[in-house]
Amino acid sequence: LVSRSTKATDTVVRVGDVSIGEGSPVHIFGPCAVESFDQVATVAEHMKSKGFDILRGGAFKPRTSPYEFQGLGKEGLEILLKIKETYNLKVISEIVAPEHVKLAEPYLDMFQIGARNMQNFELLKAVGRSDKPVFLKRGLSATIEEFMMAAEYILSEGNSNVILCERGIRTYEKMTRNTLDISAVPLLKQKTHLPVMVDVTHSTGVKEIMADCANAALAAGADGIMAEVHPDPVNALSDQAQQMTLEEFDKFHQNIS
Ligand code: PEP
Ligand code: MN
Repeated sequence: LVSRSTKATDTVVRVGDVSIGEGSPVHIFGPCAVESFDQVATVAEHMKSKGFDILRGGAFKPRTSPYEFQGLGKEGLEILLKIKETYNLKVISEIVAPEHVKLAEPYLDMFQIGARNMQNFELLKAVGRSDKPVFLKRGLSATIEEFMMAAEYILSEGNSNVILCERGIRTYEKMTRNTLDISAVPLLKQKTHLPVMVDVTHSTGVKEIMADCANAALAAGADGIMAEVHPDPVNALSDQAQQMTLEEFDKFHQNIS
């Protein structure tokens, strides 16, 4: 079902009145995690003033260590809903368990499935039974074929509102957090009819190269960019090193095509 051979036209994913995959890129920015209303509001206000429509922020954080901040959970979803209503933005957040679909549905405009859950098949089937758009991230060590099959799980349950997100893969390289597989962008665009986006934050982990990588992704045909922005990254509860400040974001934004 994800294959180009089954559908000649590009799938356009509609998030409210925002269309992803229709030509002009749609970007998604926001903090790694929802920490407080004020923290998200600072970023939301900035994004709104720049004309962006979709804000990200994690309420359920799948952290490598169980001792690290796990997210605010339902309270985080409540903050996102308040942000959505206050700033007239669409909100996207990661869910990590099948039961979160029903829980999070009233709060979010789009579900994110994180890299670590790309092959959580029960979760994929659960979002597949919803009609909300799904932002599916490529697994840490997933092949493009496996990535496409993960999306197939969602479509096979009836939900074809899926956006594929390349977020870097594991390689031997240590100068970047992961290795941005730019070839995945044209490959996924050619092999599937789904929109493709690129997360420049988790793929690179290096702020200085994020704008160049975003431009490379857009030149390769990406339908949009995701990146993390935090009002005070040094004191963030997750991903301190890689979230852009509002000032760094402005520079990034000016430098992307
Ligand atoms: C995220 O986008 O918040 C995230 C945890 O990214 P990934 O699943 O790609 O690691
Ligand atoms: Mn993060």
